[in-house]
Amino acid sequence: MANLFIPGPTDVHPEVLQAQSRPMIGHRSQACADLIARTQPKLRTLFGTEQRVFLSTSSGTGLQEASVRNCVSERLLVCVCGAFGERWFEVAQQNGIPAEKVTATWGQANTPEQVETIMKKKVFDSIAIVHNETSTGVENPIRAIASAARAINPDVIVLVDSVSAAGGVEIRADDWGLDVAFTSSQKCLALPPGMAFAAVSDRALHKAESVHHRGWYFDFLLYEQFLKRNLTPTTPAISLLFALDAQLDRIFNEGLENRFMRHKDLAARTQAWAKEKFDLYADDGVRSKTVTAVKNTTGLRIAELNQYLATHNMVIANGYGSMKDITFRIGHMGELDLHSLETLIDLIDTFSSQNTQG
Ligand SMILES: *Cc1c(COP(=O)(O)O)cnc(C)c1O
Repeated sequence: MANLFIPGPTDVHPEVLQAQSRPMIGHRSQACADLIARTQPKLRTLFGTEQRVFLSTSSGTGLQEASVRNCVSERLLVCVCGAFGERWFEVAQQNGIPAEKVTATWGQANTPEQVETIMKKKVFDSIAIVHNETSTGVENPIRAIASAARAINPDVIVLVDSVSAAGGVEIRADDWGLDVAFTSSQKCLALPPGMAFAAVSDRALHKAESVHHRGWYFDFLLYEQFLKRNLTPTTPAISLLFALDAQLDRIFNEGLENRFMRHKDLAARTQAWAKEKFDLYADDGVRSKTVTAVKNTTGLRIAELNQYLATHNMVIANGYGSMKDITFRIGHMGELDLHSLETLIDLIDTFSSQNTQG
């Protein structure tokens, strides 16, 4: 395994692929309700919530849209420090939801102080934060930001895109006061793409009751009605539910703490190497534990590097959008281990020694 050093999709364990190939069951059958019921306590532990975790047959962006459709009636504050924060702002705009941005320089994190300053001037009933900004390799202090926002507006709804974090780094939705925290199947959870999961608080559901035009497909209140009977409003990706059940067991067999430690170790090794051979894009102290953005200081041709890595069944990610070739990114999330990371590093070093420009 261990080929995909990109920030999703990640490699899926063969046992989990196997689970996906089970015979189909009806989505209104007892077997399906049992399957969903089995995954709930495991998902709740993963997100650190005693409330509920919705299962969405969509990618993570679907839940970015769901969160703004369900949880904003007045004005949304979007914390932006990279491309996924920008996307969230666009999602709000395209849904006709009043939104404002508070922006950090790329490579830096959003701060509680930034949020305090703007929330003191204007009323925001919801705030959106990206847990781990995959485009820049920055982890945001979501706990401190959530707490700063709530100190100013106790009723504020805190929305967290934890797509490239949950399952790889700690998240405690209840303790940290996060009202909607979601992730995609294909990142740190190491499942095939196609589903997304959201820990949703009672406070968020209460808020949704007062919001008009929540849409249908992503209506949280409809999700809640069905989840009470261990069902989803529409046909879920049943094969992925089989895979989810199996993968959550694997995750808890490893142990959440061990899994977080493994991600931390992978990040430390990647970043120590990148600092020595190149430079790091993200500031010290806010660097991601699941993806590293490397400044391409030696002018490596990333497409050619990937052609070389492909001969060893490996791949890394180029920089995001306009940062292409100026940076490249190494995803170290999911099931990867230090051994395969060392192999990747050796390969990049070999390629570098043969291809460094002037
Ligand atoms: C990958 C990613 C997304 C998009 O997720 P999809 O599942 O592709 O919709 C959103 N936010 C972050 C932080 C991501 O890393």
